[in-house]
Parts: sequence; C-alpha cells; structure tokens
Amino acid sequence: MSSAVMTPPTVGASAMTDPFGRTISYLRVSITDRCDFRCVYCMSEDMTFLPRADLLTLEELDRLCSAFIARGVRKLRLTGGEPLVRRNMMSLVRSLSRHLGTGALDELTLTTNGSQLARFAEELRDCGVRRINVSLDTLDPEKFRAITRWGDLDRVLAGIEAARDAGLAVKINAVALKNINEDEIPSLMQWAHGLGMGLTLIEVMPLGEIGEGRIDQYVPLSLVRARLSNNYTLTDLPDSTGGPARYVRVDETGGKLGFITPLTHNFCESCNRVRITCTGTLHTCLGQEDASDLRRPLRASPDDDLLNAAIDRAIGHKPKGHDFIIDRKHNRPSVGRHMSVTGG
Ligand code: SAM
Ligand code: SF4
Repeated sequence: MSSAVMTPPTVGASAMTDPFGRTISYLRVSITDRCDFRCVYCMSEDMTFLPRADLLTLEELDRLCSAFIARGVRKLRLTGGEPLVRRNMMSLVRSLSRHLGTGALDELTLTTNGSQLARFAEELRDCGVRRINVSLDTLDPEKFRAITRWGDLDRVLAGIEAARDAGLAVKINAVALKNINEDEIPSLMQWAHGLGMGLTLIEVMPLGEIGEGRIDQYVPLSLVRARLSNNYTLTDLPDSTGGPARYVRVDETGGKLGFITPLTHNFCESCNRVRITCTGTLHTCLGQEDASDLRRPLRASPDDDLLNAAIDRAIGHKPKGHDFIIDRKHNRPSVGRHMSVTGG
C-alpha cells in the first residue's frame, strides 16, 4: 500500500445517484464464477462455468474498480464464485489497496468460503484488508460435506484460525437451511460469539437453477429468530451499516447476530450497492434481470469516457427493488443467474 499518490475521492457531479435518490458507494465484484465447492443452495452439481476467454483480466478488473472508486465507491468487496481460487488474485488485491492509501477507499474486503484462507490471510492483512466474511453453514463435518458437496470442514476452520491469527476480524455468514442446519443455529452462534466473531444468517434466495426446488431449502428467518428468542435475549441494535442486515446483540453471549431477510423483509429502499461480474457485466440489482455490459466500453477506449457513460445509463435504470417469492406456486428461480456469477 502506498500513500504517495494523493487522488482525492471524487464526489459531487460525478457521484452515482439513481432515480430513487440512492447514492452508490458500495461495489461488489465477482472476480471468478468458479469455486472449489458446489454448495447445494448456490450451484447445481454440474455447473457450466463461463468460458475463460470471456473473463476480464486482473488489470481490467483493477481499471473497472478504479473507475467506480473515482465515481464515489468507498467500499469494495471481492467475491465470486470463490475469489481466492482465481489465479494470482492477490496481485489485484495488492494493486487495489493503493486506493486505501490515498483515502479514496474506506474498505477493501472479501467474502470467501475459507478453504484457501490459510494461504492468504497474512498477505490480505498486509494489503490493508481488515475484515472478511467467511461463509460457514455448519460445524458438523458430514453436513458440511453434504452442503458443499465435497468440502473439508477442517480446512475451513484452519483458514478461519489463520485469519484471526493474522489479525483479521472475521464475520461468519450462514444460510439458514430447512431441515439441514436450522437446529444447529444456536450452537453455531455460541461458537462464533465464543471466538469474538459476529454471525449473520441469510435467507436462501431463488437465484439460478440448482437442480432442486427452493421450497425444500427455505426457512424464514422470522421463525429462526422467534425460536432463538425462547432461549436468548435479543436486543435490536440501531441500523448503522446501511446494508441489508438487521442486527441484534445477544445478551447471553455478548455477540452480534445479523439477519439478512430478502424474503421476509425487503431492504431495497436503502440499497447503496451495485455488482459487477468477472466478465464486466454490471448488475444494479441482485434480484432483477437487469444487466449492462461494461467490458465493451472498457476495451473500446483507453480513457474512461465511454465507460462512465455506460455506468451512468445503467445507474439511471437501477430498479426500485427485488420481488423474491418462495412458495409452492413460486418454486422456480426469480433470476436465472446463480449467486456465484452475480457475486454474493
Ligand atoms: N464463495 C464465497 C463464499 O461462499 O463466501 C463467496 C461467494 S458466495 C456466492 C457469497 C455468499 O452467497 C455466501 O455467503 C453464500 O452462502 C451466499 N449464497 C449463495 N447462494 C445463495 C442463495 N441462493 N441464497 C442466499 N445466499 C446465497
Ligand atoms: Fe462456492 Fe460460495 Fe457458492 Fe458455496 S456459496 S458454491 S463456496 S460460491
């Protein structure tokens, strides 16, 4: 990280504000749609991945992210697929970290399944990453293997330990799955809070074909919360992140518990984020089919004029919100893209 180049963050005229007055300050980038796991709620077993030739290079991803930072993005999350399986991905993290040094970016972070964390934790910290999200739905090795289709729990736990040892703050994300991990949520929470890690629960979203219906996976978090309230005191915390999660403090553990409830509570009114895929497609809403190609304007010209025009057009059409439904009548994907393509 260098603080030599002082580019002030761009605000004002070139800030990205959508037709509903929401200013975009958070970018999520899926740097690969590939993954070493095949979680049952995320992917089908026989996924077809994007042709490698369609991918943006790491240098192009850097240019694209930097263009968004110049337009007012303050928080950047690398995700996927599994971001840590993309070859040489640390060179991207290292180059993007220059924006932390200049103060243009407040936070550079990532969401990972943890399988490769033991290798990269220290380097991530050295690049200015301070907090990461690790997805982990169960502490039972057999269930873990079943959910991820072949993942090794011990490897992920070792990755989490390495991250904590490196001084990274770790938040655990868990998708609540009917009849699979719903009974385990209290023990998962006790474990996470016992190690000083927050836990955020997520409702399964109807994104992409996964080879089975969603109704068999979906459990509303309102039910999970009601069950937890029988044994724990949950105190609402003020909404401070501007993100989709609502948080409570659990008096008995002293830890923080988040709920991401796209199905039971729509959080779109405060949405400050957009997503780009590894092929340079901009999605301004996770739950709608909207898509804008940024790869063509990126490649068409070495300056960012065409790119900025394309970004403006897309932000000008950011949908008001998603309308996910899962019930017996709506047991098909709302959106054809898998979460691994859009970037969760
Ligand atoms: N591979 C990394 C990981 O698992 O953390 C990053 C990408 S993954 C797509 C990001 C997050 O999306 C994970 O927490 C995962 O559990 C969540 N996710 C994937 N598919 C989902 C779905 N259909 N509904 C809700 N969450 C989903
Ligand atoms: Fe891979 Fe993450 Fe999707 Fe699981 S949730 S298959 S780890 S991208």
